[in-house]
Amino acid sequence: MRNNTYLKNLLQKMEILYTEDKLEQIYDFYEMVIEKNKVMNLTSITDHDDFMKKHIADSLAPLMFHVIHEGDRILDLGTGGGFPGIPLKIFLPESEFLLIDSVNKKLDFVQTVIDTFGLQDIYVLHGRAEDLAHKPEYREGYDLVVSRAVANLATLSELSLGFVKPGGQFISYKGSSGVEELKEAEAAVDQMGGSCDNVFEYSLPDGDPRTLIIIQKERSTPRKYPRKAGTPSKSHLK
Ligand code: SAH
Repeated sequence: MRNNTYLKNLLQKMEILYTEDKLEQIYDFYEMVIEKNKVMNLTSITDHDDFMKKHIADSLAPLMFHVIHEGDRILDLGTGGGFPGIPLKIFLPESEFLLIDSVNKKLDFVQTVIDTFGLQDIYVLHGRAEDLAHKPEYREGYDLVVSRAVANLATLSELSLGFVKPGGQFISYKGSSGVEELKEAEAAVDQMGGSCDNVFEYSLPDGDPRTLIIIQKERSTPRKYPRKAGTPSKSHLK
């Protein structure tokens, strides 16, 4: 068995329940990312403790605030090397996940992780959110969309909210700029059928500031949104 003391301490501080099996899977995931990172740029964070804090604890932060419910249908937009989708799946085994990204070779890696761990009810899908959100099988089909480090919140609201069922939520992982970004994003959120009255400002166990922006889907998204690929990041909805 590995020494999982550091991760255990993080999770205890965050009051997130774990089992030895989950800790082992997280450690295996860490080793796989580090190995793949030698041939593909998945992350600049390779030190063990930094990885556990800045990737794992960060990915799991919504569990501290009880804003994700076991059993939810969840889409991770722009998952990259599997963040936050893979850590969340390990801690929410009853939830179904779809991990999307526009770069297929990152998804090949994520699929290898899924196969290695034998994770069930978790799928990867290659494509741009702007295109996938218009397909009937994905449109307004998710209780929850999560996204970390993909775009500014105004752009991201247009990319994400088309996937969310009315009554569902979008959770955006942000650093210290979260509240500022929310002001800029208000018009986009509204046009996409959302509203926001729930923001969690917190610190990772070492003090790094983080913000979780919780957007509620109130109404169906107009069919014209999201606009065509590339447009949401060029000029956000005003
Ligand atoms: N969420 C991961 C990766 C962040 S990097 C993490 O936190 O580590 C941003 C990722 O979003 C990249 O892998 C990129 O390919 C993907 N991405 C950016 N724009 C996208 C879009 N419009 N649709 C789908 N994926 C997108």
